[in-house]
Amino acid sequence: MVGLYRTRAVVLRVKDFGEADRLVTLLTAESGKVQALAKGVRRPKSKLAGGISIFSLGDFQLWQGKSLDGIKQVEIIESYRLLRENIEKMAYASYVCELTDQLQGERDADSGVFSLVIHTLAALQDYEDLDLVLGIFLLRVLSIGGYLPEINVCVSCGSVVPIGSSLVLSASGGGILCADCIRGEKSASAEALSLLRFLVNADYRLAGRIKAGSVNYQVVSLLMNYVTYYLEKRLKSSDFLDIIREEKGGFKSVNGSK
Ligand SMILES: [Zn+2]
Repeated sequence: MVGLYRTRAVVLRVKDFGEADRLVTLLTAESGKVQALAKGVRRPKSKLAGGISIFSLGDFQLWQGKSLDGIKQVEIIESYRLLRENIEKMAYASYVCELTDQLQGERDADSGVFSLVIHTLAALQDYEDLDLVLGIFLLRVLSIGGYLPEINVCVSCGSVVPIGSSLVLSASGGGILCADCIRGEKSASAEALSLLRFLVNADYRLAGRIKAGSVNYQVVSLLMNYVTYYLEKRLKSSDFLDIIREEKGGFKSVNGSK
């Protein structure tokens, strides 16, 4: 008798496996990341086929296997179709899912990441300012992981960095630097520091209302560099996202982290 269980989950990754199967990485509501096999899903008549697309949110019925669980059934709640059809949105959503996949351990108890990811995918689908959504996501995910950068006090000398200062985010230092401690580092504008401080407490509803333009681009570039430093590797999806962002932003990313 095979043990069956149900869980709500979002599809983070799908990879071909064997002749007709796919290996699916799910982020579940109750028990973190789960690897599951979708048997026969690449056969034309598979009942599972429609439900196993990246970014989809669904109620999954799984069987427990010895080394790997398997997907028996899925009922889609929200497919986030637009995220797969719009190349810009897809670039952002792919980065969000790959980063989540890297940060989440298998079978970790939920720490709020599941809810964050589904709200982020919904916001990427609904809103136009994708950098703003990504900025909020990165700050949240860093906060959950305990890596939120210090954004009020200089991490080198401890002095308060006042409003109107330019922004240098030091990944190795774990936060911002004041004007005295910058020492030739390239800096982003004072508006970037204000936006960073604002985004820490912002939610996605704001992404539909404020227009941050190029400042936004600078802040997200700095946060992506910051995340890369902590992961100690570049994500595959970040190359694609960089191309999309540079085309849209029209200028190269600001490299202010060290
Ligand atoms: Zn300082």
